Amino acid sequence: MFLGLDVLAPQLSSWRDKALFTPGPLTTSRTVKQAMLRDLGSRDIEFITIVKDIRNRLVALGDGVEEYTSVLMQGSGTFGIESVVSSVIPPDGKLLVLVNGAYGKRLLKIANIHKIPFVELAFPENTNPDPSDLEKNLESDPGITHVAAIHCETTTGIINPIEDYGRIVRKHNRTYIVDAMSSFGAYPIDLKKCEIDFLISSSNKNIEGVPGFSFVLARKAALIAAKGFARTLSLDLFAQWEGLEGDGQFRFTPPIHSILAFRQALIELEQEGGVSARGARYKKNYEATISAMQKMGFKTYLKPEDQGYIITSFYYPDHPNFNFQEFYERLSEKGHVIYPGKLTVADCFRIGHIGRLGLTDVKALMSAVAKTLSEMKIHISEKNEE
Ligand SMILES: *Cc1c(COP(=O)(O)O)cnc(C)c1O
Repeated sequence: MFLGLDVLAPQLSSWRDKALFTPGPLTTSRTVKQAMLRDLGSRDIEFITIVKDIRNRLVALGDGVEEYTSVLMQGSGTFGIESVVSSVIPPDGKLLVLVNGAYGKRLLKIANIHKIPFVELAFPENTNPDPSDLEKNLESDPGITHVAAIHCETTTGIINPIEDYGRIVRKHNRTYIVDAMSSFGAYPIDLKKCEIDFLISSSNKNIEGVPGFSFVLARKAALIAAKGFARTLSLDLFAQWEGLEGDGQFRFTPPIHSILAFRQALIELEQEGGVSARGARYKKNYEATISAMQKMGFKTYLKPEDQGYIITSFYYPDHPNFNFQEFYERLSEKGHVIYPGKLTVADCFRIGHIGRLGLTDVKALMSAVAKTLSEMKIHISEKNEE
């Protein structure tokens, strides 16, 4: 597979899962999975040391060593987002969310369920939320205390300008929350430069760990200021941090095995050359995918300048024989898993460029796409060349 980092156990040498061209959970290395073959007590000093090491490495990845801290939270990425939203907004606070896709909408749902007043600043799915609209809203509504943005809106793969938003949020002295779930680890993010108070990502995206927990990179001062605001017990971000800072332990059963895998994944990220090298590999996957797909006649939903290298949305081909379910199943039988679309306005499917995959995997997927099109008797190239 990729880099030759995987140590294959001899008896497993012929075993291979399907390649996951999805937004996560992703294909992980053999060695990341092997790191889970342990039984460690949650109060064991070795485990506590590992958790501490992970927390330090995460803060370093965001260039936030002085001012920032990190909190691991059990559950998937959404649990981490809900932990932040339900823990850091004061009882009289109000959240503005910049929305251009399903994950922005999810943030609103979370605010709604916790009865947190919110303002939705919505834009079309192929358009970045406009920083000047954000500024106007902050100027006209002094009640807004917090602003939330999505970095890579995985709905489409669009990259939103979080640094531009951050500058405005700071200028107007509000607190800034960023869902960087699908970008952190593959796009360099300077927490301070982007003026981020709370960034959320999870174990099973670009760090290439397995599912089990999310993590929050928090400006210490903002986290401390949020003490007592939590609306739940299990997702109380400040209490979780206090526990990790105090005796180094989780308050409730930690996902030990996925934490062990994650530490190995962080080591492999470093071995690969860090965030920039990982981003470069994903970008190569992305470029190889786009050019092969375009040659076959597929069209991307986003304009190239808005498109990130995390995941790409492709329009369904305009051909009577195309049926996504059949296309998906035929690719899956060949060992490649793609992803359905999540758009409200256009019929698309998605191909992810992240996870432990390289050009060999992309090429294999592209030949499988070509073969599948021919099996389904779909000819789109001619149609698009007029
Ligand atoms: C993956 C993802 C999430 C979290 O999803 P979970 O299924 O809860 O892990 C949140 N936001 C974005 C932008 C994502 O890509």
